[in-house]
Amino acid sequence: MSKINTSSLTFKVIAGMVLGVIVGLIINLGGFNVDGSFANTYLVDGVFHTIGKLFVNALKMIVVPLVFFSLIVGVTGIGNLGKLGRVGGKTICLYFLTTAVAISFSVMLAAMLGIGEGVNAVSDTSFSGKEAPSFVDVVLSIIPANPIQAMAEGQMLAVIFFSIMVAISMLMVGRRAQPLIDGAGLANEVMMKMVQIIMWCAPYAVFALIAKSVADLGIDLMIKLGEYAIVLVLCLMLHLFVVILLILKAFTGVNVKTFMKKMRANQLFAFSTSSSNATIPVTLRTVTRRLGVDNSVASFSVPLGATINMDGTAIMQGVATVFIANMYNIDLGVTGYATVVLMAVLASIGSAGVPSAGVIMLTLIFGQLGLPLDGIALILVVDRLLDMIRTSVNITGDAAVSLIVAKSEGEFDIDVFNDPDAGILDEDDSVSVDIKTE
Ligand code: ASP
Repeated sequence: MSKINTSSLTFKVIAGMVLGVIVGLIINLGGFNVDGSFANTYLVDGVFHTIGKLFVNALKMIVVPLVFFSLIVGVTGIGNLGKLGRVGGKTICLYFLTTAVAISFSVMLAAMLGIGEGVNAVSDTSFSGKEAPSFVDVVLSIIPANPIQAMAEGQMLAVIFFSIMVAISMLMVGRRAQPLIDGAGLANEVMMKMVQIIMWCAPYAVFALIAKSVADLGIDLMIKLGEYAIVLVLCLMLHLFVVILLILKAFTGVNVKTFMKKMRANQLFAFSTSSSNATIPVTLRTVTRRLGVDNSVASFSVPLGATINMDGTAIMQGVATVFIANMYNIDLGVTGYATVVLMAVLASIGSAGVPSAGVIMLTLIFGQLGLPLDGIALILVVDRLLDMIRTSVNITGDAAVSLIVAKSEGEFDIDVFNDPDAGILDEDDSVSVDIKTE
């Protein structure tokens, strides 16, 4: 239908990604990435590392102020506490539901395919993972004793809680708080503008991030754990293209092709950064300006989703558990599988939206089931690339749930959703950035 627009941001980001893979492969396969070599010191750990890190830092830089102001605008925009409770309840229920579906079918599929069977690995218990936070720790982290510290440390649940409390209190103060509410709206606009500026740098940063990952990893390691990786990617794709889209279609009736098309640039950001949190600014922009979800719903559902809704992460945790159990000839049994499902739902909620968080939480599940922790070291070998894919699935789930909740609340603008140009910046925008995604 539409011809390729070579000036669009998506095109440039994809070009950056492809070039990154090529350069990374040349460095890796050409054997240039040995310690102390020019390519390793000045390119991989030098230029690529620095550019990639600067970009991710820039995204992280605006996450906290953006979530803070946008939640104030969102919650005060909802206007009454009853509706706020309803929106919150629906969002959280849907997040649970999609994650539970994701983990159930992926565990079933992995068990049916018998991945990891016949390897007969023996544990040498040499690996000790980073410590995962306990469930109590996660609950305790919701209310910050010091909101400034929570903001400085980027503790998302605490920031969300504090922002909602500020907004509710503003609503209760009433008319006199209006200047503050207006100020937050303006600050939100400013933050959104900053998102545009950062997105403008994305193609170069994506090139650097991907080139570094591929140069560090290479393709051969992927192949060693190929069976695990293939089943995992299959489950992730099934969830992305079948489950999420079916749920979206069933609840809203919208054109799922349009949804996926408009999510493309967003998914590429998640892919490149491996971080739902760092992608919040882009997701928020896509969901509100491209998909037509009102900020009153999106400001709540997007940051919360980035923190607690991790369908892709849950799928990884399920498949990895079955894979390692089979590798070590440990029979999980029906109770074991049920425990995996329950634990993965909880662990994915507890996983922060940052790179590799899902693997750290995997130690919780392994510990509960008595699986050898050195299995996680194996999983880690191929985790970087798989993390990129599952993060894209994670944020797509957040966007779909935001849309479903917004539709049910009458906060969804179908005209914006159907307009292919909605949310695309004007040519004469002061920072001329083209964020067309198709
Ligand atoms: N990187 C994932 C995210 O940010 C979390 C994980 O699965 O490790 O969504």
